[in-house]
Amino acid sequence: MLHKGSPPFIFPAGSCYKPGMTARHTIARAVSVTGIALHAGVPVTMLLAPAPAGHGVVFRRADLGKAITALYDRVGETRLGTVLEEDGASVGVVEHLMAAIAGAGIDDLLVTLDGPEPPILDGDALSYLALLDAAGHAEQAQARTAIKVLKPVLVEQGQARAALLPAESLSYHLKISFPQPAIGDQTFDFAFSAEGFRTDIAPARTFGFLSELETLNRMNLARGANLENTLALDESGVINRDRMRFADEFVRHKILDAVGDMALAGAPLIARFEGFRSGHGVNNALLRTLFADPANYRRVELA
Ligand SMILES: [Zn+2]
Repeated sequence: MLHKGSPPFIFPAGSCYKPGMTARHTIARAVSVTGIALHAGVPVTMLLAPAPAGHGVVFRRADLGKAITALYDRVGETRLGTVLEEDGASVGVVEHLMAAIAGAGIDDLLVTLDGPEPPILDGDALSYLALLDAAGHAEQAQARTAIKVLKPVLVEQGQARAALLPAESLSYHLKISFPQPAIGDQTFDFAFSAEGFRTDIAPARTFGFLSELETLNRMNLARGANLENTLALDESGVINRDRMRFADEFVRHKILDAVGDMALAGAPLIARFEGFRSGHGVNNALLRTLFADPANYRRVELA
């Protein structure tokens, strides 16, 4: 369900925007959608609303009356999705929505939820992009700043590792290696662009293993997972193979996750991301390591 109709918000002009610079963007009007939460399995209504320049992305738990800022230093649990925590409240599985927000070039947004996670929708970022498209884009009177990585930053956790390397533009290189032959070894390179994100990354769905589902359900996890929103694997391969959009959908989804996790830097990165078997935990550790030393990066206004 998609609602349009709220009038566009107009915010007062900021001071640091000059013609020719890349402006920050918000959405033009509020939109909402209702769907199921991937882990909690409960219906959640999500309202995306315009926000003033410099606001960033903020989640609001309407049911708890708490706000949670979408930044790397609010990340708590990362085992089965990225969970943001602030002021005794949390919001889970934010990565696909954050990827869509970054892919759409939105800087300022208020995300109001009446439950613990954004609705998972199709298990991809395309369904969130459709929502952002319906909302329209609105330019802010403030320049967009980016975070330029100056020194290589590396993180290793067990068999997983990831790095942010100095580069002139944002790109992702990721390799996964799963024992299941249906996945196996997959590698993907993605030079970040809004159009490339939309066609090559955003449609890639989340995936999971049936052998883990019962255990997860007992832990009150993956209760909203179904064959419509998740590529499900058993020993024989992908059960809902007809739902697959790419032969290498798994590695593309891992890039989608990385784009969403890197969006928690709070501004676009100018860097090359390299990951091997990396997931939400390593991704978050990477941003924490980056920001731990101011010599690692510089904030730059985008021309
Ligand atoms: Zn994911």
